[in-house]
Amino acid sequence: MLKREIYKVEGTKIVRERRFCPKCGPGVFLAEHEDRFTCGKCRYTEYKKREKTETSEAKTAGKHQSKSSKPKSSN
Ligand SMILES: [Zn+2]
Repeated sequence: MLKREIYKVEGTKIVRERRFCPKCGPGVFLAEHEDRFTCGKCRYTEYKKREKTETSEAKTAGKHQSKSSKPKSSN
C-alpha cells in the first residue's frame, strides 16, 4: 500500500503583501490585524476585503447596437 503524502509547502513562500500607509507614504507599513490594517503613525485603518468571490458585474443597460449605416434617401 502506497501512502502518498500530499501537502503543500507554503512555509518557504514569502508573502509580500504588506501595505503602505496611503497617508504616511511608502516606507510606513500598516500593521496587519485579523480584519484590518492599521498605521501606527497616523492611526489610519484599512479594512480587509472579504475573500468572497462575488461577481458583481455591472448591469449593462439594454442598448442594442445602433445602426451604422443610415438609409440614404436621395430624392
Ligand atoms: Zn500612516
